[in-house]
Amino acid sequence: MQIASKLPDVGITIFTKMSKMANEYGAINLSQGFPDFPVDPQLIDLVHHYMKEGNNQYAPMPGHPVLREAIAAKTENCYGWRPNPDQNIMVTCGAIEAIMSTIAALINPGDEVIIMDPAYDAYEPIINLQGAQAVGVPLRATDYSIDWKLVWEAITEKTKMLIINSPHNPSGAILSKEDLEALEDIVDETGLLVLSDEVYEHIVFDGAEHQSVLRSESLRAHAIVVSSFGKTFHATGWRMGYLIAPEALMVEIRKVHQYNTFTIHTPTQLAIADYLKDESKYMGVSPMYQEKRDFFLDVMKESKFKPVPSHGTYFQLMNYSAISDQYDVDFAVWLTKEVGVAAIPMSVFYQDGTDNKVLRFCFAKGEETLSAAAEKLCAL
Ligand code: GLN
Repeated sequence: MQIASKLPDVGITIFTKMSKMANEYGAINLSQGFPDFPVDPQLIDLVHHYMKEGNNQYAPMPGHPVLREAIAAKTENCYGWRPNPDQNIMVTCGAIEAIMSTIAALINPGDEVIIMDPAYDAYEPIINLQGAQAVGVPLRATDYSIDWKLVWEAITEKTKMLIINSPHNPSGAILSKEDLEALEDIVDETGLLVLSDEVYEHIVFDGAEHQSVLRSESLRAHAIVVSSFGKTFHATGWRMGYLIAPEALMVEIRKVHQYNTFTIHTPTQLAIADYLKDESKYMGVSPMYQEKRDFFLDVMKESKFKPVPSHGTYFQLMNYSAISDQYDVDFAVWLTKEVGVAAIPMSVFYQDGTDNKVLRFCFAKGEETLSAAAEKLCAL
């Protein structure tokens, strides 16, 4: 059979590969980003309650009104602006469906979309599926910050959208107020769309404030902002994401969503709506993860791995050049099979596969798991 692949250069994602290898070799899995500790029993009881109460049929296509209302209230509480639940909010099957539906709805063949380099691995293939081009702008090598001069230089008459991601997966870098101002200048002058992936919005460290594009009136007029209850409430398997966008864009995005996932798990939407009434449930996430980051750094301090500061997300980059000069993918495979710890090689996030001898470790784990991994890593 002859198949003209739409993604000829894409294989199975590194997250799936490394988790599978970790399972096969019985390695401690700090590769794919997911927490290994339980969801709050109160939230599980709420899902159960709404199921038993009979809320088991289709929710409305854009999301249950009760959850959209709760998202509007949370957004106002966090960023000082209240989106309209009917016009501006949609509940999605994980953040990835929000990203997929947005790009499929708004990007046409021949368009260019600017992404940062390194970037989360999903953006480029989704852009390519539309017959469009991803144009990478290199982040600064030292701290993974954005050089806005390079962003300006990458803009052509074909550029339709800019994708930003703060806190940034894989680096843990976060955008500052000045970054948002630089982005405002671009959007004000060019009218570009901004897809802002903010799934780690509630995992920001050392007293920093998450700089959501929703804080800015001119940005939110052009922005699609994506977030994730999976990340915030340690339930990545529940596939609960959402997006916030101006009405004119939302009309188009919902056209894709209605023929894709159509609606999202009803009892979970109702449960999360209730749970969001207590702001400590999301405000308390950053300190919990900061403790984990600090614990991981502490148990790793005698190792030869050199940490790169992580300001947000549940990832910690570590440079291993004092241990090996192997290509990072090979080193990650070796580490999984021979040492018993799985991590993600950083080169997979670069358009050209840049290898800086850096691995990404997920610290969303219990202390015993992090200690056991560190013991193995410190022996190198
Ligand atoms: N977002 C997760 C990570 O960065 C991976 C999700 C997935 O496996 N697709 O590790």
